[in-house]
Amino acid sequence: MRIDSIFAQAHDAGTIPVSFEMFPPKGELTLDRARDASRALCALHPDFISVTCSAGGSGNSGATAEIASMISHEFGTSSVAHITCIGQTRAELASRIDAYRAAGVENVLALRGDRPQDAEGTITGDFTYASDLIPALVEAGFCVGAAAYPEGHIECDDLAESVRHLRLKQDAGASFFVTQLFFDNDYFYRFRELADAAGITVPITCGIMPFMSKQQVSRMVFMCGASLPSPVIKLLARFEDDPASLTAAGLDYACRQLEDLQDHGVDGLHIYTMNRPSVARAAMEALGR
Ligand code: FAD
Repeated sequence: MRIDSIFAQAHDAGTIPVSFEMFPPKGELTLDRARDASRALCALHPDFISVTCSAGGSGNSGATAEIASMISHEFGTSSVAHITCIGQTRAELASRIDAYRAAGVENVLALRGDRPQDAEGTITGDFTYASDLIPALVEAGFCVGAAAYPEGHIECDDLAESVRHLRLKQDAGASFFVTQLFFDNDYFYRFRELADAAGITVPITCGIMPFMSKQQVSRMVFMCGASLPSPVIKLLARFEDDPASLTAAGLDYACRQLEDLQDHGVDGLHIYTMNRPSVARAAMEALGR
Protein backbone atom coordinates (compact mmCIF):
# COMPACT_ATOMS: atom_id res chain seq x y z
CA MET A 1 0.00 0.00 0.00
CA ARG A 2 1.19 3.54 -0.67
CA ILE A 3 2.49 5.28 2.45
CA ASP A 4 0.61 8.51 1.69
CA SER A 5 -2.63 6.47 1.68
CA ILE A 6 -1.69 4.91 5.05
CA PHE A 7 -1.26 8.38 6.56
CA ALA A 8 -4.46 9.67 4.95
CA GLN A 9 -6.52 6.73 6.23
CA ALA A 10 -5.03 7.03 9.73
CA HIS A 11 -5.75 10.76 9.74
CA ASP A 12 -9.39 10.13 8.81
CA ALA A 13 -9.67 7.43 11.49
CA GLY A 14 -7.93 9.58 14.14
CA THR A 15 -5.10 7.04 14.59
CA ILE A 16 -1.30 7.35 14.44
CA PRO A 17 0.65 5.05 12.10
CA VAL A 18 3.50 3.21 13.82
CA SER A 19 6.34 2.01 11.61
CA PHE A 20 9.77 0.37 11.97
CA GLU A 21 13.14 0.82 10.34
CA MET A 22 15.44 -2.12 9.67
CA PHE A 23 18.73 -2.48 7.81
CA PRO A 24 19.92 -5.26 5.47
CA PRO A 25 21.90 -7.67 7.66
CA LYS A 26 25.60 -7.70 6.84
CA GLY A 27 27.54 -10.65 5.43
CA GLU A 28 26.55 -13.83 3.68
CA LEU A 29 22.99 -15.18 3.68
CA THR A 30 21.77 -11.59 3.86
CA LEU A 31 18.33 -12.41 2.52
CA ASP A 32 17.84 -15.42 4.81
CA ARG A 33 18.80 -13.38 7.85
CA ALA A 34 16.64 -10.50 6.65
CA ARG A 35 13.72 -12.92 6.28
CA ASP A 36 14.02 -13.90 9.97
CA ALA A 37 14.21 -10.26 11.08
CA SER A 38 11.35 -9.23 8.76
CA ARG A 39 9.13 -12.08 9.92
CA ALA A 40 9.63 -11.14 13.58
CA LEU A 41 9.00 -7.43 12.92
CA CYS A 42 5.95 -8.02 10.70
CA ALA A 43 4.42 -10.24 13.40
CA LEU A 44 4.06 -7.05 15.49
CA HIS A 45 1.79 -5.52 12.81
CA PRO A 46 3.47 -2.17 12.14
CA ASP A 47 1.80 0.06 9.53
CA PHE A 48 4.96 -0.17 7.43
CA ILE A 49 8.65 -1.06 7.60
CA SER A 50 11.41 0.94 5.93
CA VAL A 51 14.68 -0.67 4.82
CA THR A 52 17.91 1.35 4.76
CA CYS A 53 20.54 1.26 2.01
CA SER A 54 24.24 2.10 1.88
CA ALA A 55 25.05 5.40 0.21
CA GLY A 56 26.69 5.27 -3.20
CA GLY A 57 25.27 1.88 -4.16
CA SER A 58 27.95 0.02 -2.18
CA GLY A 59 27.70 -2.52 0.65
CA ASN A 60 24.29 -4.07 1.11
CA SER A 61 22.31 -1.57 -0.94
CA GLY A 62 21.48 -4.23 -3.55
CA ALA A 63 19.52 -6.11 -0.89
CA THR A 64 17.35 -3.13 0.06
CA ALA A 65 14.79 -3.50 -2.72
CA GLU A 66 14.64 -7.27 -2.34
CA ILE A 67 14.05 -7.04 1.41
CA ALA A 68 11.40 -4.33 1.01
CA SER A 69 9.72 -6.51 -1.60
CA MET A 70 9.88 -9.54 0.72
CA ILE A 71 8.23 -7.55 3.52
CA SER A 72 5.36 -6.52 1.25
CA HIS A 73 4.85 -9.61 -0.85
CA GLU A 74 5.79 -12.41 1.56
CA PHE A 75 4.65 -10.93 4.87
CA GLY A 76 1.86 -8.62 3.71
CA THR A 77 3.25 -5.48 5.43
CA SER A 78 3.72 -2.24 3.50
CA SER A 79 7.35 -1.31 3.00
CA VAL A 80 9.62 1.56 2.01
CA ALA A 81 12.98 1.05 0.27
CA HIS A 82 15.55 3.79 0.98
CA ILE A 83 17.47 5.10 -2.04
CA THR A 84 20.45 7.48 -2.08
CA CYS A 85 21.86 9.65 -4.87
CA ILE A 86 25.27 10.85 -3.67
CA GLY A 87 28.03 10.24 -6.24
CA GLN A 88 25.62 8.82 -8.82
CA THR A 89 25.02 9.68 -12.44
CA ARG A 90 21.53 9.92 -13.95
CA ALA A 91 22.19 6.69 -15.85
CA GLU A 92 23.13 4.87 -12.63
CA LEU A 93 20.00 6.16 -10.93
CA ALA A 94 17.88 5.04 -13.88
CA SER A 95 19.18 1.49 -13.57
CA ARG A 96 18.51 1.49 -9.81
CA ILE A 97 14.99 2.72 -10.46
CA ASP A 98 14.53 -0.16 -12.91
CA ALA A 99 15.81 -2.63 -10.30
CA TYR A 100 13.47 -1.23 -7.62
CA ARG A 101 10.51 -1.43 -9.98
CA ALA A 102 11.43 -4.95 -11.08
CA ALA A 103 11.47 -5.98 -7.41
CA GLY A 104 7.95 -4.58 -6.99
CA VAL A 105 8.91 -1.64 -4.73
CA GLU A 106 6.04 0.84 -4.34
CA ASN A 107 7.43 3.34 -1.77
CA VAL A 108 10.89 4.88 -1.48
CA LEU A 109 12.67 7.20 0.95
CA ALA A 110 14.74 9.61 -1.17
CA LEU A 111 18.06 10.54 0.44
CA ARG A 112 21.21 12.29 -0.58
CA GLY A 113 23.23 9.86 1.56
CA ASP A 114 26.08 10.59 3.93
CA ARG A 115 29.36 11.73 2.46
CA PRO A 116 31.85 8.81 2.46
CA GLN A 117 34.25 9.22 5.40
CA ASP A 118 37.28 9.34 3.12
CA ALA A 119 35.76 11.90 0.72
CA GLU A 120 37.36 15.31 0.92
CA GLY A 121 35.98 18.32 -0.88
CA THR A 122 33.51 17.86 -3.71
CA ILE A 123 31.80 14.64 -4.66
CA THR A 124 31.14 13.97 -8.31
CA GLY A 125 27.74 12.85 -9.56
CA ASP A 126 24.63 14.35 -11.10
CA PHE A 127 22.78 15.03 -7.84
CA THR A 128 23.64 17.55 -5.14
CA TYR A 129 20.61 17.28 -2.87
CA ALA A 130 17.79 14.83 -2.20
CA SER A 131 15.41 17.39 -3.74
CA ASP A 132 17.22 16.79 -7.09
CA LEU A 133 16.45 13.07 -6.84
CA ILE A 134 12.78 13.24 -5.85
CA PRO A 135 11.24 14.27 -9.22
CA ALA A 136 12.79 11.27 -11.04
CA LEU A 137 11.34 8.94 -8.41
CA VAL A 138 7.88 10.53 -8.56
CA GLU A 139 8.06 10.33 -12.34
CA ALA A 140 8.86 6.61 -12.05
CA GLY A 141 5.59 6.15 -10.14
CA PHE A 142 6.88 5.68 -6.58
CA CYS A 143 5.29 7.17 -3.49
CA VAL A 144 8.25 9.22 -2.26
CA GLY A 145 9.24 10.19 1.29
CA ALA A 146 12.29 12.13 2.49
CA ALA A 147 14.29 12.89 5.64
CA ALA A 148 13.53 15.69 8.12
CA TYR A 149 15.76 17.09 10.87
CA PRO A 150 14.07 18.45 14.02
CA GLU A 151 17.37 19.97 15.23
CA GLY A 152 18.55 20.91 11.72
CA HIS A 153 20.84 18.81 9.52
CA ILE A 154 24.39 18.49 10.85
CA GLU A 155 25.82 20.38 7.82
CA CYS A 156 23.33 23.24 8.19
CA ASP A 157 23.85 25.68 11.07
CA ASP A 158 20.49 27.40 10.82
CA LEU A 159 17.31 25.47 11.70
CA ALA A 160 15.10 27.85 9.72
CA GLU A 161 17.25 27.21 6.64
CA SER A 162 17.03 23.46 7.23
CA VAL A 163 13.23 23.80 7.28
CA ARG A 164 13.38 25.77 4.01
CA HIS A 165 15.33 22.88 2.49
CA LEU A 166 12.61 20.55 3.77
CA ARG A 167 10.01 22.61 1.96
CA LEU A 168 12.04 22.17 -1.27
CA LYS A 169 11.69 18.40 -0.86
CA GLN A 170 7.92 18.71 -0.44
CA ASP A 171 7.76 20.99 -3.49
CA ALA A 172 9.79 18.41 -5.46
CA GLY A 173 7.14 15.78 -4.71
CA ALA A 174 7.83 14.20 -1.29
CA SER A 175 4.54 13.09 0.23
CA PHE A 176 5.77 12.18 3.73
CA PHE A 177 8.78 12.83 5.96
CA VAL A 178 10.62 10.66 8.48
CA THR A 179 12.70 12.47 11.09
CA GLN A 180 16.21 11.97 12.28
CA LEU A 181 16.32 10.54 15.80
CA PHE A 182 15.98 12.97 18.71
CA PHE A 183 16.11 12.50 22.48
CA ASP A 184 14.21 15.62 23.50
CA ASN A 185 10.62 15.84 22.26
CA ASP A 186 10.54 19.59 22.80
CA TYR A 187 12.88 19.95 19.82
CA PHE A 188 10.32 18.13 17.70
CA TYR A 189 7.41 20.28 18.91
CA ARG A 190 9.35 23.50 18.12
CA PHE A 191 10.37 22.12 14.72
CA ARG A 192 6.75 21.14 13.97
CA GLU A 193 5.71 24.76 14.50
CA LEU A 194 8.45 25.97 12.14
CA ALA A 195 7.46 23.36 9.56
CA ASP A 196 3.80 24.40 9.77
CA ALA A 197 4.81 28.05 9.32
CA ALA A 198 6.94 27.10 6.30
CA GLY A 199 3.93 25.45 4.63
CA ILE A 200 4.85 21.81 5.22
CA THR A 201 1.54 20.02 4.82
CA VAL A 202 2.58 16.38 4.32
CA PRO A 203 2.79 14.06 7.36
CA ILE A 204 6.00 14.09 9.42
CA THR A 205 6.59 10.85 11.31
CA CYS A 206 8.90 10.96 14.36
CA GLY A 207 11.97 8.71 14.31
CA ILE A 208 12.89 7.39 17.75
CA MET A 209 15.93 5.25 18.53
CA PRO A 210 16.51 3.76 21.98
CA PHE A 211 20.06 4.20 23.19
CA MET A 212 21.69 0.84 23.91
CA SER A 213 25.23 1.71 24.97
CA LYS A 214 27.49 4.68 25.61
CA GLN A 215 29.46 4.02 22.40
CA GLN A 216 26.27 3.93 20.35
CA VAL A 217 25.08 7.24 21.83
CA SER A 218 28.37 9.01 21.11
CA ARG A 219 28.45 7.63 17.55
CA MET A 220 24.90 8.88 16.92
CA VAL A 221 25.54 12.27 18.47
CA PHE A 222 28.67 12.83 16.37
CA MET A 223 27.05 11.53 13.17
CA CYS A 224 23.79 13.44 13.32
CA GLY A 225 24.27 16.17 15.92
CA ALA A 226 21.33 15.15 18.14
CA SER A 227 21.29 16.94 21.52
CA LEU A 228 21.63 14.93 24.69
CA PRO A 229 19.23 16.23 27.36
CA SER A 230 20.31 15.99 30.98
CA PRO A 231 18.04 13.00 31.87
CA VAL A 232 19.88 10.96 29.21
CA ILE A 233 23.30 12.13 30.42
CA LYS A 234 22.33 11.17 33.99
CA LEU A 235 21.28 7.68 32.87
CA LEU A 236 24.55 7.26 30.95
CA ALA A 237 26.49 8.26 34.08
CA ARG A 238 24.39 6.16 36.49
CA PHE A 239 24.76 2.96 34.47
CA GLU A 240 28.28 3.56 33.17
CA ASP A 241 29.50 0.21 34.55
CA ASP A 242 26.27 -1.71 34.08
CA PRO A 243 25.61 -2.22 30.34
CA ALA A 244 22.49 -4.37 30.83
CA SER A 245 20.81 -1.74 33.02
CA LEU A 246 21.84 1.01 30.57
CA THR A 247 20.20 -0.87 27.69
CA ALA A 248 17.02 -1.33 29.71
CA ALA A 249 17.04 2.36 30.69
CA GLY A 250 17.51 3.39 27.04
CA LEU A 251 14.55 1.34 25.94
CA ASP A 252 12.41 2.67 28.77
CA TYR A 253 13.41 6.26 27.90
CA ALA A 254 12.44 5.72 24.24
CA CYS A 255 9.08 4.24 25.28
CA ARG A 256 8.36 7.33 27.42
CA GLN A 257 9.26 9.55 24.45
CA LEU A 258 6.88 7.58 22.21
CA GLU A 259 4.03 7.83 24.73
CA ASP A 260 4.50 11.58 25.02
CA LEU A 261 4.55 12.03 21.22
CA GLN A 262 1.42 9.90 20.94
CA ASP A 263 -0.29 12.06 23.58
CA HIS A 264 0.64 15.12 21.50
CA GLY A 265 -1.11 13.65 18.46
CA VAL A 266 1.89 13.60 16.10
CA ASP A 267 1.41 12.38 12.51
CA GLY A 268 3.29 9.10 12.99
CA LEU A 269 5.87 7.21 15.04
CA HIS A 270 8.83 5.46 13.41
CA ILE A 271 10.99 3.18 15.56
CA TYR A 272 14.63 2.57 14.68
CA THR A 273 14.56 -1.10 15.66
CA MET A 274 18.20 -1.90 14.82
CA ASN A 275 16.74 -5.25 13.64
CA ARG A 276 15.86 -6.12 17.26
CA PRO A 277 12.30 -7.46 17.61
CA SER A 278 12.57 -6.94 21.40
CA VAL A 279 12.95 -3.17 20.83
CA ALA A 280 9.99 -3.09 18.44
CA ARG A 281 7.85 -5.19 20.82
CA ALA A 282 8.56 -2.96 23.83
CA ALA A 283 7.65 0.12 21.78
CA MET A 284 4.40 -1.41 20.55
CA GLU A 285 3.45 -2.41 24.10
CA ALA A 286 4.18 1.10 25.40
CA LEU A 287 1.88 2.48 22.70
CA GLY A 288 -0.89 0.03 23.59
CA ARG A 289 -0.67 -1.71 20.20
P1 FAD B 1 19.47 16.73 1.65
O1 FAD B 1 18.03 16.95 1.87
O2 FAD B 1 19.99 16.81 0.25
O3 FAD B 1 20.30 17.72 2.59
C1 FAD B 1 21.72 17.62 2.68
C2 FAD B 1 22.28 18.95 3.18
O4 FAD B 1 22.12 19.94 2.15
C3 FAD B 1 21.55 19.51 4.39
O5 FAD B 1 22.47 20.19 5.19
C4 FAD B 1 20.54 20.49 3.79
O6 FAD B 1 20.17 21.47 4.74
C5 FAD B 1 21.33 21.04 2.62
N1 FAD B 1 20.50 21.46 1.48
C6 FAD B 1 19.42 20.82 0.97
N2 FAD B 1 18.93 21.50 -0.10
C7 FAD B 1 19.75 22.58 -0.27
C8 FAD B 1 19.78 23.66 -1.20
N3 FAD B 1 18.90 23.75 -2.21
N4 FAD B 1 20.76 24.59 -1.07
C9 FAD B 1 21.68 24.51 -0.09
N5 FAD B 1 21.69 23.50 0.84
C10 FAD B 1 20.75 22.55 0.74
N6 FAD B 1 21.73 7.51 4.74
C11 FAD B 1 22.07 6.43 3.98
O7 FAD B 1 23.16 6.39 3.41
N7 FAD B 1 21.20 5.37 3.84
C12 FAD B 1 19.98 5.35 4.42
O8 FAD B 1 19.22 4.40 4.25
C13 FAD B 1 19.61 6.48 5.21
N8 FAD B 1 18.38 6.54 5.81
C14 FAD B 1 18.01 7.67 6.50
C15 FAD B 1 16.72 7.74 7.05
C16 FAD B 1 16.33 8.87 7.76
C17 FAD B 1 14.93 8.95 8.33
C18 FAD B 1 17.23 9.95 7.95
C19 FAD B 1 16.83 11.16 8.75
C20 FAD B 1 18.51 9.87 7.43
C21 FAD B 1 18.91 8.75 6.70
N9 FAD B 1 20.18 8.65 6.12
C22 FAD B 1 20.53 7.55 5.36
C23 FAD B 1 21.17 9.69 6.35
C24 FAD B 1 21.15 10.78 5.26
O9 FAD B 1 21.63 10.25 4.05
C25 FAD B 1 22.04 11.92 5.75
O10 FAD B 1 21.44 12.60 6.82
C26 FAD B 1 22.54 12.89 4.68
O11 FAD B 1 23.63 13.62 5.23
C27 FAD B 1 21.51 13.90 4.21
O12 FAD B 1 20.55 13.30 3.47
P2 FAD B 1 19.24 14.14 3.00
O13 FAD B 1 18.51 13.27 2.07
O14 FAD B 1 18.51 14.69 4.16
O15 FAD B 1 19.97 15.31 2.21
